[in-house]
Amino acid sequence: MRYQVLGSTELQVSAIGFGASTLGNVFGNVSVEESQNAVLSAVDHGINFFDVSPYYGLTLAEERLGEALRSVRRDVVVATKCGRYGVDRFDFSPRTITLEFEQSLRRLRTDQVDLLQVHDVEFGDIRQIIEETIPTMRQLQQQGKTRYIGITGYWPGLLAHIAQEVPVDTVLSYCHSNLMMDDIERELTPIARSRNIGLINASPLHMGLLGGGEVPSWHPAPEEVKHAASDVIELCRAFSVEPSMIALHACLQHRVAATTLVGMSTVAQVHENCTALDFQPDPELMAAIRNRIAPVFNTSWSSGLSENEDQPFPIGGNR
Ligand code: NAD
Repeated sequence: MRYQVLGSTELQVSAIGFGASTLGNVFGNVSVEESQNAVLSAVDHGINFFDVSPYYGLTLAEERLGEALRSVRRDVVVATKCGRYGVDRFDFSPRTITLEFEQSLRRLRTDQVDLLQVHDVEFGDIRQIIEETIPTMRQLQQQGKTRYIGITGYWPGLLAHIAQEVPVDTVLSYCHSNLMMDDIERELTPIARSRNIGLINASPLHMGLLGGGEVPSWHPAPEEVKHAASDVIELCRAFSVEPSMIALHACLQHRVAATTLVGMSTVAQVHENCTALDFQPDPELMAAIRNRIAPVFNTSWSSGLSENEDQPFPIGGNR
């Protein structure tokens, strides 16, 4: 495993991080035993960064992660979130953030997390997040309940805008830096680099589209993106390569993101994803993949309040 310091924090995180939304059955049902084994196998493979939220499985993922990490809590970096508590349940107010975070700590069986993040800023009133939510999280940090604070969301331009207005320790962006997208480079990567903010890149498989398994019915990608991803999977199989290897390899090359968070639910996935660290893709296959993705490259979908969305990016641009 490789490790990198997360921005200006003192957190040294593994290049591959464990996305624990899977433990909340977000991508299909996972048994208690499977989830426990996947987490412990991740620790054995040197993965030390675990990301969760009270939203994942409506608290189930936090419960399961807390239980699985009980014996190794001091050896790992645990990140959770606040502000999103259901598909349509958002509350970024100081009172709710504070009360709900106490419940997260209880479920995670700890008295301090390493990182507390605002979950999906694009669904909130940005002024409230800047003026109330983040200051409340700084208070929780001063009380020793979280070591650092950060923001997460779908739109990299919006995340960059917030990070310019108010100091944050980390930014988590998802589905905007992988085989299908690279518009994180427009504003967010330069700002993270220049301000030494810890950059966390999530969803290397485009929320499962590039994994080769069943795509969940809630997946918001437009049909043409789903078709392109399934063609990429076929191309990989024609070259006898696991599509997840190609997708993860692409993310692991990022120069600024300290860690790539991938959602995992089995020991086999943990093992396979860790082998991506030493993987070298066939240039002929990569050229064919890039060619197939080009017509839909940098295609986003709507997420959050319309006023918070980034401007659309020219399709196929920025490569
Ligand atoms: P992902 O791209 O990591 O895909 C996860 C899916 O890929 C799951 O179905 C998983 O079973 C499958 N998978 C994993 N390894 C595989 C392999 N080797 N072969 C085949 N399939 C494989 O998407 P994600 O889970 O949404 O993102 C990763 C993590 O990032 C999340 O769990 C979460 O912790 C974080 N995240 C945070 C936010 C946010 O804060 N707003 C949003 C998205 C993701």
